[in-house]
Amino acid sequence: MKVYSIPLRTRFRRVDVREGVLLSGPAGWGEFCPFPEYDDRESAAWWAAAVEAAEVGWPEPVRERVPVNCIIPAVSPERAHELAAASGCGTAKVKVADHPDSAAEDVARVEAVRDAVARVRVDANAAWDVDTAVRRIRELDRAARGLEYVEQPCRAVEELAAVRRRVDVRIAADESIRRAEDPLRVAVAGAADVAVLKCAPLGGVRRALAVAEACGLPCVVSSALETSVGLAAEIALAGALPSLDFACGVGTLALLTGDVVPEPLRPVDGFVPVLRTAPAPTVDWPAADDRTTWWLDRVARVSALH
Ligand SMILES: [Mg+2]
Repeated sequence: MKVYSIPLRTRFRRVDVREGVLLSGPAGWGEFCPFPEYDDRESAAWWAAAVEAAEVGWPEPVRERVPVNCIIPAVSPERAHELAAASGCGTAKVKVADHPDSAAEDVARVEAVRDAVARVRVDANAAWDVDTAVRRIRELDRAARGLEYVEQPCRAVEELAAVRRRVDVRIAADESIRRAEDPLRVAVAGAADVAVLKCAPLGGVRRALAVAEACGLPCVVSSALETSVGLAAEIALAGALPSLDFACGVGTLALLTGDVVPEPLRPVDGFVPVLRTAPAPTVDWPAADDRTTWWLDRVARVSALH
């Protein structure tokens, strides 16, 4: 087992370093990297995903490559246009609602990005109440000349459902889906048109495929900010979904300052290849001794629950 620690380019989820454990087994390498605040019970699904990759391997893909969306942070319209144009991706996900008075900036950013790529979706990260969401979504839909979808406009599932009844733009649930039972709850509530899935918190590729089938919603796959080892599992999920209508959020290596493999799984011309096994980690980003101990203790506790 290897414990890694890689600084992020910019602070994200209140952390500025990404840490996790890489483990190998007969089927290849797996990654265990639940965020620090997750308790052992919640982390057990992440362990199951890592064990699946190392011990069992992934189901056969139905496609050889997966389209990737680029991520446009809350930057100026000029910078946003530059990032989108340079990405090679046909779809951009634009961060909006970064602060309470962001409305005009959001519109300008979305317009600038839409001039560079064919499809724009926005992510509000649960920042709006229902009325604000309805107003903002209509403005942004015009700015994008038709938004592909809006990711998590509000926090609660009931709020998502209320927004969805009032706008024509598709609603995607991201933060509302953290456990295996969530997608079904979202679907039953009529809260979303699209489910954002990550195989790490759902317990692996097979369990995520079962969740996708049970909820019956079109799915898009997103990373949990893994290194290329864990990312390969997310891409395996995207590669095995029976239908895939949307570009996936697996272009996240750009958020890390380094990777554990010599050839990171970065998108080329807007696509990543679907691999049968994760690439072997050969580049060391060793964690400090106290962090290594913390992670190995966490593995011991969580694997005992498994
Ligand atoms: Mg999101």
